[in-house]
Amino acid sequence: TVGVVTLDQMGSMSVGTSSSGLFMKKTGRVGDSPLSGSGFYVDSTIGGAAATGLGEDLMKGILSYEIVRKMSEGLSPQEACDQTVYPFHDLLTKRYGKAGAFSLIAMNKKGEWGVATNVEFTFSVANDTTKPTIFMANRGENQTTS
Ligand code: ASP
Repeated sequence: TVGVVTLDQMGSMSVGTSSSGLFMKKTGRVGDSPLSGSGFYVDSTIGGAAATGLGEDLMKGILSYEIVRKMSEGLSPQEACDQTVYPFHDLLTKRYGKAGAFSLIAMNKKGEWGVATNVEFTFSVANDTTKPTIFMANRGENQTTS
């Protein structure tokens, strides 16, 4: 899945996901990517979030919504990602013995961003003054490396 969270010069935010779904998926399978709240969520007065990873596990939660909700309570995008993704990973592991791979991105209405992953993933950040920068995020690391 490719997910994006955007903020325009008027302060309007949007989010999008584009996915081929899961490799070898059954016909008719619906993953998390088209599901508001699970695969994506945005509120221009707060921020937005998008997910990639194992939809069967992502759909057991509404992580994109939860990250935006936490940002509405004043958490930074990074804090909201950390405090959503890792507890959910731990919950799945405790309940089912394992958790699939998943990663979330988030941005707030100020253009601050955050990510969290239980594996590793690559993402890019761009604005109107800098070129897109590619980062790598790893599990449990608040800091990312470019
Ligand atoms: N989340 C997608 C799905 O489960 C797959 C992906 O992110 O690659 O349909």
